[in-house]
Amino acid sequence: METSSERMETSSERMSAPLVVAIIGAGPSGIYAAEALSQQTDIDVEIAVIDRLPVPFGLVRYGVAPDHHSIRSIRNTLERTLEKSSVRFYGDVTIGADLTIAELRESVDAVIYAYGAGTDRRLEIPGEHLQGSFAAAELVAWYCGNPDVHPDTEQPPSSDHLMAAEVDELITRARRAVVVGVGNVALDIARILIKSIDQLTDTDMAEEVLESLSRKNVTDVHVLGRRGPAYTSFTTKELRELGEIDDVDVIVDPADLQLDPSSEAVVQQNKIAARNMVVFQDWAARPLSGASKRIRFHFWTRPTMIIGDDRVAAVEIERTMIDSAGYVVGAGGRNTLAADLVVRSVGYRGLPLIGVPFDEKTGRVPHAEGRVIRDGGFSPDEFVTGWIKRGPTGVIGTNKSDAVETVTSLIADVHNGAIQAHGRSGKLDRLLAERGVHPLGMPAWHRIDAAEIELGARHGRLRTTLAHRKELLAAAEPDGDNLE
Ligand code: NAP
Repeated sequence: METSSERMETSSERMSAPLVVAIIGAGPSGIYAAEALSQQTDIDVEIAVIDRLPVPFGLVRYGVAPDHHSIRSIRNTLERTLEKSSVRFYGDVTIGADLTIAELRESVDAVIYAYGAGTDRRLEIPGEHLQGSFAAAELVAWYCGNPDVHPDTEQPPSSDHLMAAEVDELITRARRAVVVGVGNVALDIARILIKSIDQLTDTDMAEEVLESLSRKNVTDVHVLGRRGPAYTSFTTKELRELGEIDDVDVIVDPADLQLDPSSEAVVQQNKIAARNMVVFQDWAARPLSGASKRIRFHFWTRPTMIIGDDRVAAVEIERTMIDSAGYVVGAGGRNTLAADLVVRSVGYRGLPLIGVPFDEKTGRVPHAEGRVIRDGGFSPDEFVTGWIKRGPTGVIGTNKSDAVETVTSLIADVHNGAIQAHGRSGKLDRLLAERGVHPLGMPAWHRIDAAEIELGARHGRLRTTLAHRKELLAAAEPDGDNLE
């Protein structure tokens, strides 16, 4: 039994011990949470940022389009946070496989879930399974060089993902693509599909991705919006960019720009919608330049069926309208668009992580102001931020204020005694070492970074992404530059 002096010693040790916080996910939401935690001065913290991939930055590396250089440069800010003395990056550690959520919670004082939205929404229409029909998320992962879709040759292909070889085959034979959805990801996809290889070589795409893209022959991209031009989720800068690509005409039917009263009200209230309308009006008024490639917007249009024997040949589309209850419904008038590729870009969706509360309906971790709700009450040591908290919305910067809200709740809970430091510094490292799990830290990332820059220089580029796990691990070795 503890004596009272032992009790006092233990408790004063605990008072002076740092609060150990593990963040699952080294994407923007997780790193912004680390930043908010490391910037506050109320309590002493040790922060472990864990990611299953060998490299940090999540969607900034594997989601932001490679031709969006300024957004990708947010990486530099995120990197500075991971370099702070109170923060450590634990790359190549998979929660679930290397240690369970329960074990992680036992090793630290609090956990912040920041593992994003790991899958895509589906259209639920016939033919969606055909070869040539796939999710924007897969194409994005492919062109960003995510090792999940660029398996090492000895790795068995995963049934969860379309693999690089399949994307290569699909993309190089396609001439006409249909992109379903009118959000920023749809714009990224349309841009990457329509741009010529010369317009993509200044990116950091992996050589094999560029090689596939150089054999691409896409001449027409059709973008389908199930509602009108007032209801798109585009940001105007990104929308405008489509009209600035050489040798591409952007086509909008002026009839689609006649606004009904509800669209009119949206444009009155929403500045982005109003600015986007100006862009569409400009395009609708432009005469065709005779460019060799086209992007055509189809509003009030949704796909009803993907047609083909074994692979995509066409998409059946129908006109839509909004009914009195506010739902998108068919308005009759079916048509067919010839297509070799169909990319659904209708949003992402969170996936459950074993041991973490999950709301199947919303695809999110249930919470209030970032405090996780477990079994109907607040779980004192669990917090959540980013897409797995609020859903797949907002730009990268949105994650910053989101993380601040979560960290504010966490710090308040330290002050009100709901969370205590238990003197757990080093416990996670000991557990991982016992398991034979060797996390890749920031020194390993710097070696990978240097290897990618060097490889880029060999090809006359600023950087070339290493797309395979084994390449990343080889480059991470202290003496590793085993790259061809
Ligand atoms: P999003 O903005 O939510 O757009 C999804 C689109 O899919 C919407 O147009 C939606 O239309 C449509 N949709 C949903 N279900 C549909 C269905 N069954 N049939 C037809 N259309 C359907 O999602 P996202 O484009 O995947 O982007 C995710 C987030 O990342 C967004 O916040 C986005 O701004 C951000 N992002 C930003 C950038 C950037 O800043 N450059 C780049 C990429 C992504 P309804 O409105 O009718 O539902």
